[in-house]
Amino acid sequence: MKDYKLLTPGPLTTTNTVKAEMLFDHCTWDNDYKQITQSIRASLLELAHVSQPEYTAVLMQGSGTFGVESVLTSVIGGHDKLLICANGSYGMRMEDICRHAGIACTVYKENNDCRPEPQKIAEILAEDKSITHVAMVHSETTSGILNDIAAAGRVVKDAGKTFIVDAMSSFGGMDIPVADWGIDFLVSSANKCIQGVPGFSFIIANREKIEQSRGRARSLSLDLYDQWKGMDEDGKWRFTSPTHVVLAFAKALEELKEEGGIEARNARYDQNQRLLTERLGSLGFKPYLAPEVQGPVITTFYYPEGAGFSFPEMYEYIKERGYVLYPGKVMEADTFRVGNIGEIYPEDIETLSSIMADFLEEKEK
Ligand SMILES: *Cc1c(COP(=O)(O)O)cnc(C)c1O
Repeated sequence: MKDYKLLTPGPLTTTNTVKAEMLFDHCTWDNDYKQITQSIRASLLELAHVSQPEYTAVLMQGSGTFGVESVLTSVIGGHDKLLICANGSYGMRMEDICRHAGIACTVYKENNDCRPEPQKIAEILAEDKSITHVAMVHSETTSGILNDIAAAGRVVKDAGKTFIVDAMSSFGGMDIPVADWGIDFLVSSANKCIQGVPGFSFIIANREKIEQSRGRARSLSLDLYDQWKGMDEDGKWRFTSPTHVVLAFAKALEELKEEGGIEARNARYDQNQRLLTERLGSLGFKPYLAPEVQGPVITTFYYPEGAGFSFPEMYEYIKERGYVLYPGKVMEADTFRVGNIGEIYPEDIETLSSIMADFLEEKEK
């Protein structure tokens, strides 16, 4: 099989040292393993700038969506109502989760290229007093837009509501002071900015709020409270844990620290993203988002003007030469996306753009 690097926003390209951790079949019942789980939980709280006992961290088997579904179905009570602020498909997925679980919700929808406005959120909360929880995506991976959750959090806290944030593609790659921004539940996963492999999600939770959720869960395996209770005691996962993924994640956390923490990682992602926009721009690919709202994780580009451009053809051409883009268009416009997180450096962006330049040149002949 031919090797390539992923320019997708998770799963992403990990280091060989993270992958190497998975060569060991670790047992799950002894103290060594429980200790690894506990130290991961402590590191996550540190990255979130929160500490015990105000906050706690819970690890949950499954991909990121399992983590979001765990929070929504475990903490929103039968008489509660959720306001979802959505400007992309991950926001809309939260509505889908609510529909499946029979959770009352209302959606404040913005276009894919616009941020939800704090003022609008305040108005909705003032109008509909039955709303108890507000949920929002931080980095909307659908387009790459970075939403202002700090401003939203202030409005949500002023109204006395619970704030749930999907920080899947931002946590670890952007600084998020969880308590300062009024976040009660933050969800992210192993295979995004912390640069682990897929297999579990994690939740940073306000302890008081998680305590209050006891007995509310609509699902056994996704019961956030029960998972927390078990794990909090001695680091034990309720059901079989993804051991190899957990070991790889512990290593990825170490490597984040070695790189210089969130600040250094954010600077690298930012540099990658700027270079990408510059290089692809000079090849005729215009970005979909305005620079003020563009995040550092993934960039959406319009197809170039003029007939004859085939994205599938370009995708294959690039893949044969060592990089994989995000295939398919997901929005109303003819676009494709390029992620720049993971073990990706400016050299990779330079290589990608020269491959793309070759592709365009060959097409012209
Ligand atoms: C990746 C991602 C998710 C989770 O997707 P999974 O496929 O379940 O891992 C949720 N929200 C956002 C914003 C994401 O980027």
